[in-house]
Amino acid sequence: MKKIKALILIFALTFSSLGFLCSCNTVKTKTFFALDTAVQLTVYNCTDEILNKAVNNITKLADALDCYKENGELYNLNKTGKSENLSEDLYTVLKKSSEYSKNLNGAFNITLGAVTRLWNFENKIIPKENELKSALKTVKTENLSVFYKNGKYKAKLKNNTKLDLGAVAKGYIADKTAELLKNNGVKKALINLGGNVYSLGDKNAVIGIKKPFSNGELSARVKVKTSCSAVTAGNYERCFKENGVLYHHILNPKTGKPANSDVNSVTVFCKESAKADAYSTGLFNLGKDKALEIANSEKEIEVVIIDKNDKVFYSDGFELKNGELYIINENI
Ligand code: ADP
Ligand code: MG
Repeated sequence: MKKIKALILIFALTFSSLGFLCSCNTVKTKTFFALDTAVQLTVYNCTDEILNKAVNNITKLADALDCYKENGELYNLNKTGKSENLSEDLYTVLKKSSEYSKNLNGAFNITLGAVTRLWNFENKIIPKENELKSALKTVKTENLSVFYKNGKYKAKLKNNTKLDLGAVAKGYIADKTAELLKNNGVKKALINLGGNVYSLGDKNAVIGIKKPFSNGELSARVKVKTSCSAVTAGNYERCFKENGVLYHHILNPKTGKPANSDVNSVTVFCKESAKADAYSTGLFNLGKDKALEIANSEKEIEVVIIDKNDKVFYSDGFELKNGELYIINENI
């Protein structure tokens, strides 16, 4: 989460919301910068007080979960290798991440921290082989232990292992924002954390999936019937080309280098945005066939994949009607 995200991956459009925007003034929007990305909240029938509460909560969580935020909670855990009193949020993200990691055969791995900090995609910095090799030795999920003792959540990191929650934090924060808004009586909202989208309570939302490397062209449009999150992992942002090689920010935890996948993007649809976020990164790593296999075997997620030839593939829980994909999976 160190770097600025220049492009928004998913454009979330709601037909009804556009109508709403024109005909009445009870929709409020707030755009601000957090998690090194542009955050946009569009909330219907809510007070400024509720909107500000949501903004403050996003900022608070972003600080806690960002490994680059000096003196933030995760930063301190990485620095000292332990925490005797984890916040419930960090505890939950760590627990969820371990589970996702297992389900994805380690293709999503938060213990990549020592490796991710060596890369700098904005400044086209490629780590030296020897640096990468020693950092890779710390990438081990078993080096992280998270537990509950004497009424407190605790964590320990062994052998200089560092955590990076960049592939799951935005999703978790989207979930918490949706929850906060709902608990404050909000019935409809669109939460967009730099392309990590959560559509709350909108029966007519349409999520557009960007064609990789294009100027905002869409490869697919997905109709979402209830509250749902959509998250894309792609190789066309936070990337650079050198000597004909594309270097991008989704790393293969085995090599510490950009994942050599057969796809350009994976978009995951799920009620839980943390899961959609982590899975999009993991499934990108695993490639098209494995991603479709996992999506078809898990009830809670569906995927839309765009391969290297801009061909669109989708899992079994969609139906194509008049050029648009409809989610028919009852669990989403
Ligand atoms: P974005 O930050 O653009 O939403 P992702 O959700 O795909 O992108 O997460 C990528 C970020 O997560 C990287 O910038 C890096 O910090 C971290 N990361 C990269 N590869 C992995 C991986 N295989 N598993 C876990 N985290 C990763
Ligand atoms: Mg992700």
